[in-house]
Amino acid sequence: MSIQTKTVKAKTVAIVGGGCAGWSLAARVDQLSANTVTLYLKEETNPSHNWGFWQMPWLSDALSKKRAMWNSWQIITDEGIVTHHSRNHAYCSITSDDWFDWCQKRFHSAATTTEIIRLPVTNTDKNMLMTSNHKKRYDLIYDSRPPKADKNILLQHFKGLEIKTSIPVFNSKAAVLMDFRVSQENGIHFMYVLGYDQYTALVESTFFSTSPHREEVYDEAIRDYLSRIYNVTSFEIVKSEKGIIPMGDVRPKDQNPFLYSIGSNAGAIRPSSGYAFSFIQKQITQFLDRQTKPTNPHKKHDLMMDLIFLEVLKSHPEKAQRLFFKLARALNGDSFARFLSGEANIKDYFLVINSMPKWLFINQAVRVIIEKWKRIAKWA
Ligand SMILES: Cc1cc2nc3c(=O)[nH]c(=O)nc-3n(C[C@H](O)[C@H](O)[C@H](O)COP(=O)(O)OP(=O)(O)OC[C@H]3O[C@@H](n4cnc5c(N)ncnc54)[C@H](O)[C@@H]3O)c2cc1C
Repeated sequence: MSIQTKTVKAKTVAIVGGGCAGWSLAARVDQLSANTVTLYLKEETNPSHNWGFWQMPWLSDALSKKRAMWNSWQIITDEGIVTHHSRNHAYCSITSDDWFDWCQKRFHSAATTTEIIRLPVTNTDKNMLMTSNHKKRYDLIYDSRPPKADKNILLQHFKGLEIKTSIPVFNSKAAVLMDFRVSQENGIHFMYVLGYDQYTALVESTFFSTSPHREEVYDEAIRDYLSRIYNVTSFEIVKSEKGIIPMGDVRPKDQNPFLYSIGSNAGAIRPSSGYAFSFIQKQITQFLDRQTKPTNPHKKHDLMMDLIFLEVLKSHPEKAQRLFFKLARALNGDSFARFLSGEANIKDYFLVINSMPKWLFINQAVRVIIEKWKRIAKWA
C-alpha cells in the first residue's frame, strides 16, 4: 500500500479526531471515493458551543443549520461605535451540537462503508495508526488532532455565558463583535455579545494575551459589563463555553509525513481573529473539489499581514482598540466580512492598509522579515 501525494485516490481512509474538521470531512465521505472510511474518536469533554461565521458561498450547509443570523454587527470602543450592515454576508451562528448532528447523519447514511473507532490514536508509524488495543494500515490518513504552537504566541482566550434576563435588553438585530468598554488591565479585552432575542444572549469575555486567566476573571468581567452597560444584575445562566485559541504559527505535533493534516492542524485558524469554522469548511471544500491534498486555506499575503498585525498588538496592546476601530471604520459590511473570511479584493486590501498607522506597521514588518530570515539562516 502506498500513499499518493499529488492526487488523492485511496481505498481505505482514516480520519483522526472528531472535532470541527474531523466531523466536517466525515460528513462528506462520499466525495473521498474510498471503499471504507474509519473515524477515530477520542472521548469529548467539550460541551456544545457556538461558531460564528460570515455567510459565504462555501457555507451553504452550515447556513441551513444556523441558530441565528444578523445582517448588522458592531465594533464598540471608547472612540465610538461602528455599525456594519450586509445583505450578502450576514454574520451567522451555529451550535457545535447542531453541526455535529448533521455531520453524523451524513456520515452514517453515506454510500461509502463507514466505521467509528472510539479510541484515541496513541501512535503512528508511516501509514499505520495505533490505539491501545489495535494497529491498522490505511491508504490515506487525515489527521485533525490539535497542533502545537510556539511558547510565547498570542492566545485568544475566553469564557462565554448564554444567559436569560427577565427584562428585554439585548439587540437581536445587531451582533456586537467587539465591545472594548471593559477593563484592559489583564490584556487586550473585549466583550462579544450575540443577542438571540431581547432576553437571551451569549455574552463572552475575550482576551488576547500570552496566558489564560483564572475562570473568575472572565465571570467577574461579564457580570460587571452586564451591570454597567445593560443594567442587568440578575440573570439565568443557560450554558457556558470557554476556549483557548492560538493566534499565529502552529504545526502538527505528529510530524509523520504520511499524515495529511486538516483543520487547525493544517493552519485553518485565522491567526489575527481566531476564526476557524469558515476556513475549515473552505479547506475541505477546496481539497475535495480539486482532489488534492489539504493545504492551508489562507492566502500567503493574509498570513503575512496577520503576522505583522499580531506583532503590533503584542508590542502595543494599548493601541488595540484604536486599531480595530480604525479598521472597522474604513470598511463597510461587505468588505469587512470579505476581509475576515479571506476573500478580500484589491480595494478591500487598500482600505485596510490605508487605515493602519504606517510607521508602526512598517517597523513591525521589518522585524517580522528579519525574524523570518534569521530562522531560515538557522535551518540552512
Ligand atoms: C468555545 C469555543 C468557541 C469558538 N468560537 C468560534 C467561532 O465563533 N468561530 C470560529 O470560526 N471558531 C471558533 N472557535 C475555534 C474553533 O472552534 C476551533 O478552532 C475549531 O474547532 C478547530 O477545529 P479542529 O477540528 O481543527 O480541532 P478540534 O476541534 O480541536 O478537534 C480536534 C479533535 O481531535 C481529537 N483528538 C485529540 N487527540 C486525539 C487522539 N490522540 N486520537 C483521536 N482524536 C484525538 C480531539 O478530541 C478533538 O475532537 C471556537 C472554539 C471554542 C473552543
